[in-house]
Amino acid sequence: MGWLTPDLYYRDVFAIDLDSLRERGIRALLVDLDNTLLPRDTNVVTEAHRAWAKAAAEHGFGVCLVSNNWHERVKAVADELGFQLVPKAVKPLPFAFRKALGLLGAKRSEAAVVGDQVFTDIVGGNALGLLTVLVMPLSAADLPHTLLLRSLERRILAGRQPLP
Ligand SMILES: [Mg+2]
Repeated sequence: MGWLTPDLYYRDVFAIDLDSLRERGIRALLVDLDNTLLPRDTNVVTEAHRAWAKAAAEHGFGVCLVSNNWHERVKAVADELGFQLVPKAVKPLPFAFRKALGLLGAKRSEAAVVGDQVFTDIVGGNALGLLTVLVMPLSAADLPHTLLLRSLERRILAGRQPLP
């Protein structure tokens, strides 16, 4: 089950301890969009997002949005926050993560995947040997097949609680 298991589990992106990631040698963040950075049904970038993007940059992180989505809003969010972007990612396949590493000039050992789904974000990150960081989904709204996978995820996490 190792490849289904996240290395770290946080309530949301804002709870991620950026200092401790830097101490682990991480300097690239490959971040999912839908239900990780923004609720699936909105595209409102808030002051909190701008502050998080600023904090990430100040910590020396390069950030790339890696999204299976392809709508214009994905690009708008990336542009607004100053992030790189790989849309139409087809996670958990490795191509998009590899492309993001190239955009950020980072080695696999220097990168963490941040996402809300075990079967796309975490499996894909683990398969490439990246540090994997699971966050709780921001909203219950999701695609039907994702909702089915959620019940499996709950069994995989087996009562594991996010870090405070
Ligand atoms: Mg997601």
